[in-house]
Amino acid sequence: MIEFSEAYETVMNSAFDTGTEVISFTGSTGRVLAGDIISDMDLPPFNKSTVDGFVCHRDGLGSDFEIMETIAAGRMPSLPVNKGQCSRIMTGAAVPEGCNMVFMVEDSEVLHSGKVRFTGSFSKDNISVKGEDVRTGDTVLKQGRLIKPQDISVMASVGCTSLTVSRMPRVSVVSTGDELVEPFEVPGQSQIRNSNAYQLLEQITHTGAVGTYLGIARDDEDATYDLVKTAISKSDIVLITGGVSMGDFDFVPEVLERAGVRIKFSKIKIQPGKPTTFGVHPDALVFGLPGNPVSAFLQFEMLVKPLIYRMMNCSWKPLTLLLPMKDTYVRRSADRQALVPVMISDDGMVTPVEYHGSAHISALIPADGIISIPSGQLRVEKGEIVSVRQI
Ligand code: AMP
Ligand code: MG
Repeated sequence: MIEFSEAYETVMNSAFDTGTEVISFTGSTGRVLAGDIISDMDLPPFNKSTVDGFVCHRDGLGSDFEIMETIAAGRMPSLPVNKGQCSRIMTGAAVPEGCNMVFMVEDSEVLHSGKVRFTGSFSKDNISVKGEDVRTGDTVLKQGRLIKPQDISVMASVGCTSLTVSRMPRVSVVSTGDELVEPFEVPGQSQIRNSNAYQLLEQITHTGAVGTYLGIARDDEDATYDLVKTAISKSDIVLITGGVSMGDFDFVPEVLERAGVRIKFSKIKIQPGKPTTFGVHPDALVFGLPGNPVSAFLQFEMLVKPLIYRMMNCSWKPLTLLLPMKDTYVRRSADRQALVPVMISDDGMVTPVEYHGSAHISALIPADGIISIPSGQLRVEKGEIVSVRQI
């Protein structure tokens, strides 16, 4: 049995590169950039008015201005603006040479003479200067970035319409167990619905990899072997759920060895998730995840998700919040590191959710995150600051 930190290092050190592919910038959210994105222009590309109003030289603010023309967005100014003069200008339009401020329509009065008067008091110039946001040649998005929707407008602005991104790891899911039926079936006596496979597929997709479900292997060594062999040949990562405990029908470790998987560990000093197994095959990295849904969920979060990001060369880190415990929490035994699902209340306090153990499938519903309690530690005191990892 190894410490979780050692298991984590072992998994992360086994990561291999999945290569790259070129895709369109549209729909690229959730993918990972395999190269920097460089701007091909200054942003803004010209001195630009940030308001609708009148563009002039600040020195002339004391007197009324003759209006030369109207400058619409998308048009260049056609007339010079000299002393005592201004032009009407729209938001996003180019500022004529020599002008250094725009006063807003709201701060103006057009006189009978046709001239315009500034009626406000000067506070800012309302001009955004060429290149003040981005300069030609600037790196606007860095290699390793997990693309977010707000990145797309940056890509659009610098004309980056095709991107090199990391190829998404292919992750296969195999369930095991004679007691399982699929969710659309009605379980008979002593049967349950397969929940893990579908939960894991969503976790995989959410992480930006491609999940494939290969079905349920019955608790029979040969049947499990066949499905595991297929999974390994089709994927970069294989997730097998169940069959890793100490029961008479838990064949997964034997099957993995028979399939040529070198087992790196088969027990972690963590709760839930003790029987989590990991091994390497020349074609794929293989996890035997515990059958209990909470364990499978959390070990995916703790081990598989970081691995997927590492394989995509992504600089991902889990989002954690440092918050105080609402009440003292005491656990029964401290022989393993514990992952405890918790809620964050509106006042920013942390409370463990009601949790009956790793089979308590609905326990994660109210959970906002998990806290980790090191082995050897029984209590977390009221008011103690804990690190909540969002799930
Ligand atoms: P095992 O590791 O196969 O002994 O499974 C441990 C527990 O998890 C047992 O109660 C199983 O019935 C349950 N379990 C195993 N696989 C699944 C699954 N795919 N969906 C829901 N529960 C499962
Ligand atoms: Mg089983």
